[in-house]
Amino acid sequence: MLEVILKGHDKYYGVSDVVRMFSGVPEELKDEGKVIAPEGPDAVLVNELLEDGRSVTYFGDKAYEFKGELLEPGREIKRSLYMALSDISKKNLPWGCLTGIRPTLVACEEESTKALEEKYFVRPDKARLAFETSREEQRILSKVPEESLCIYVGIPFCPSRCEYCSFVSSDISCHMDRLVNYEAALEREIELISKQIKRPIASLYVGGGTPTVLEEREFASLLDSIYSNLKISSGAEVTVEAGRPDTITTGKLEAMRDHGITRICINPQTMRSETLLRLGRKHTAEDTVRVYNQACEMGFDLINMDLIAGLPYEEPEEHVESTKRLIELAPANITVHTLYKKRRAAMSRDTVMDKERTRDTLDECVAESYRLLMEAGYHPYYMYRQKDTGHGLENTGFAKGDTGSLYNVAMMSDCRDVLSFGAGGMSKRCFAQEGEMYKHRVERCPTIKDALTYIARVDEMAEKKIAFFEFKP
Ligand code: SF4
Repeated sequence: MLEVILKGHDKYYGVSDVVRMFSGVPEELKDEGKVIAPEGPDAVLVNELLEDGRSVTYFGDKAYEFKGELLEPGREIKRSLYMALSDISKKNLPWGCLTGIRPTLVACEEESTKALEEKYFVRPDKARLAFETSREEQRILSKVPEESLCIYVGIPFCPSRCEYCSFVSSDISCHMDRLVNYEAALEREIELISKQIKRPIASLYVGGGTPTVLEEREFASLLDSIYSNLKISSGAEVTVEAGRPDTITTGKLEAMRDHGITRICINPQTMRSETLLRLGRKHTAEDTVRVYNQACEMGFDLINMDLIAGLPYEEPEEHVESTKRLIELAPANITVHTLYKKRRAAMSRDTVMDKERTRDTLDECVAESYRLLMEAGYHPYYMYRQKDTGHGLENTGFAKGDTGSLYNVAMMSDCRDVLSFGAGGMSKRCFAQEGEMYKHRVERCPTIKDALTYIARVDEMAEKKIAFFEFKP
C-alpha cells in the first residue's frame, strides 16, 4: 500500500491526483492527514510544503526537491511528490507531474518546449504536442470576439449504451416514451432563453448522447427550432454529433444539409467490427464507411471522426490500424481519445487500466497514430486530459488546414462563455483576470441531469440560466 502524509498544507486533491497516476484510486483520510492507495509502490512518504513555498517529499532517508524556479504551491507539492514516486517506482510518465491542469494552458505560460520538459518532467514528444496545440488553440480563439457565445444543445439518449460510456445518456430502447416530451421541453427552453440573447453566437454544438437518435420528423423539428429561435451569426460553426452511424439516415442528412449544418461527427471509435459489437454499439465499421461516403456525396465537407485508443476486446496495435483506415477516408477532423473510466461506465476500472504491457504499448500506439496523422497532413488543434484517462494519456483533436472546431477549443480552454440547453448540460461564464493572459476565472451553472426532472422543471432551468448570464429582456 502507498501512503502519503501531508505536512504544512492540506492540498489533498493535488496529492491524490499525483498518487492516482502511480496507483489505484486513492483515498483521502483527512482526519489522519494522509492519502492512501491500495496499489502502487509499497511505501510511506511525507509530502511537505515549507514556509518559503518550496516542497520536499521524504521517503526513508531520501529527500526529493526541485532546485529551480519556484512554482505556485499547488504545483510545487505535486512536483516533489512526482519526483519521489517516479524514482521509487522507476517510472517516468508521459506528462510528468502535470495533472489537474490543461497541458496547453501551461504551454501558453512557457516560452519553449524545454521549459515543460525541465520544470514539469514532460516527455519531449508530449511537450511538443502541448506547445503546438496551445498555439493553434490561441489562433482559433482569436478569430472570435470575447463577447461571443457558444451554444450547446444536448440530447441525452442513445440507441444502445456503449459499455465504456460515462455520459449522462439513456438507452432509447428503454425510454422511447420520454423522447418526444424531452424534445418539446428542449424546444421550450430554447424559445424562453433565446429571446434574451443579444450576443453574437459564434458556434453551436448539438451533442449528446446521440442527437440523430430522434426520428426524422422530430430531428428536423429540433433543427427548425434552433434556427428559428437562435440568431446564429453567418459563418458560425454549427456541429451535429451524428455519432452513431446506425442512427444516420438519408432524411436526417438532408435535414442537416438543408439547415446549413457546417460540421458533422460520424464516430467509428474503432474500425474493428468485432470490438464494436462487443462494446454494445450495434453497428459495424462498414456501416461507418457507408454513412461517411454518403455524407461526402451529399456535400458535407467538414466531417469529424472519433477514435478511441485502448478499447477492451482489441489489442492497442489495432487502434493504429483504425487510424490508417480513417486516414484513407480523409475526413477534415480526426479526434483520438484514450479510453478513460468514470464511475458511470459499465466496464470495470480494471478492464481499462490493466497491465503494464498495455500501458507501454498503448503509449507507443497512440504516438504512432499521431505520427501517421501528421504525416498525412493533420495537425493537433485541441487537447485535454481526464482524470482516469488510460495510463495518463490525453485526447487530441487533429484537423486539416483551418478546420479545427471553435466549439471544442472554446469548451476546453475555458476562454469563451458556453450556454447549454438540455438535461445534464453545463453552462459557464469565463472572466478574464488581471495579470493572467490565458487563465480565465470560470463560473458554472449546471442543469439537472435526469431527463424526466428536466422536462418537469424546464421553465425553472431557463430562468436560472437567464439570471446566470444576466440576460436582459
Ligand atoms: S454513443 Fe456516446 S453517449 Fe451514447 S452510449 Fe455510446 S459513448 Fe455514450
